[in-house]
Amino acid sequence: MQVQTENQSLIEKDKEHLWHSMSRFNPNGNPTIAVKGEGSWFSDMDGNRYLDGVSGLWCLNLGHGRKEIAQAAYEQMLDLSYFPLTLSHVPAIELSSKLSQLLKGSYTTYFSNSGSEANEVAFKIARQYHVQNGNPGKYKFISRYRAYHGSTLGALSATAQANRKDKYGPSASGFLHVPPPYSYRNTFEDDLAAAEYIKEVINWEGSDTVAGVILEPIISGGGVLIPSKEYVTRVAEICKENDVLLIVDEVVSGFGRTGEMFGFMHSEGVQPDIVTMAKGLTSGYMPLGATAVQSYIYEKFKETGDKQHFRHVSTFGGHPAACAVALKNIEIIENEKIVERVSELGGSILGELRNLENLDCVGEVRGIGFLYGIELVANKETKEPATEEVSGKIIAACKEQGLIIGRNGDTIPGYQNVLILAPPLSSTVEDLRFLVDTVSAVIKEQD
Ligand code: PLP
Repeated sequence: MQVQTENQSLIEKDKEHLWHSMSRFNPNGNPTIAVKGEGSWFSDMDGNRYLDGVSGLWCLNLGHGRKEIAQAAYEQMLDLSYFPLTLSHVPAIELSSKLSQLLKGSYTTYFSNSGSEANEVAFKIARQYHVQNGNPGKYKFISRYRAYHGSTLGALSATAQANRKDKYGPSASGFLHVPPPYSYRNTFEDDLAAAEYIKEVINWEGSDTVAGVILEPIISGGGVLIPSKEYVTRVAEICKENDVLLIVDEVVSGFGRTGEMFGFMHSEGVQPDIVTMAKGLTSGYMPLGATAVQSYIYEKFKETGDKQHFRHVSTFGGHPAACAVALKNIEIIENEKIVERVSELGGSILGELRNLENLDCVGEVRGIGFLYGIELVANKETKEPATEEVSGKIIAACKEQGLIIGRNGDTIPGYQNVLILAPPLSSTVEDLRFLVDTVSAVIKEQD
């Protein structure tokens, strides 16, 4: 009785005082209040257990409850609870050096607190780099429709999902968008044509005005759009030919999600100028963002002239405990061969999910590593997308069965029709079985 009253009071306080991300206000629905996580599962305050099929917000790569990670934060907080990176501290030094090694190049990293911030930092560094490299007119950025790069105003300007920008306009100037490769809906003849289109836009705009191209190697929140490997290679070449910086947003695809340490590593010969990271960098145990730039870019900030330095500061960016957590997280990913495991298991899960393509309501199933999209259609012939009521019903039915899944963000009106699965990379074989069986049964029921 007392527990019930306490729970009711929590629900009331939540509804009154806690502003939830992205959720539409629903006066009748109660929030899911989590109280305990174990591996890929969490329990709510009523004792219901759920498999988290989207790793929180695609970040809980190692699942809940890793004591070694908690211990790393605890010990670091006792040693040095906070220190700014206007000066320096050991975990940030070690982490920046480790990231350079993982990226297989020579990179210098600026730390922040989130993926949005990591992208903001990338845009500022790119613009300042071009100014200090003698090309002050290069300020524009090209990103792809359906991409998500964050919610702060610069990152939102690079984001090209109309509904997310509604009522927040105008966007920052200097952000242009091009269609992504999306073979199911045939925007282009093939993926290489999508890359060539970027070249055309650079030409039309004037390459002396374009600072960078930002892309997720795989558009994730925009509907799991997986390009051919050659696409990113060709975009990288086009960038190089035009002195345009290639900024690869690895916020979701980094740290093993796609079966490589980083998503760009699926494509031959690609060494991004700038790589942005967050989420899986700490497996969600602490907030941390990172913007790694190739050393030739950093060189331009080392010159001693007036105002040559990067005039950006982040109080909490690169917090010692967050860096210690990231180091431990990466150590576990390496020791437990998580990336190799995702690569091995990912293909068979995709194979099973692809059976759903036999259903009338499923247009296409796409996936790579532990990242899958199930595109729902109202009509298989015309590919008319299923309504958001249909995807919403499937998500709710999965939740009833103890499985949390997601769907693509507000891309364009009428297109919230891609179910998304992105389980923790440490999920057991039984967890993955439950995920595939539950989602398959629920969608079949809907068909
Ligand atoms: N970039 C990508 C590809 C993302 O999916 C996200 C968040 O979902 C972000 C950037 C922004 O990250 P954050 O929510 O940590 O600001």
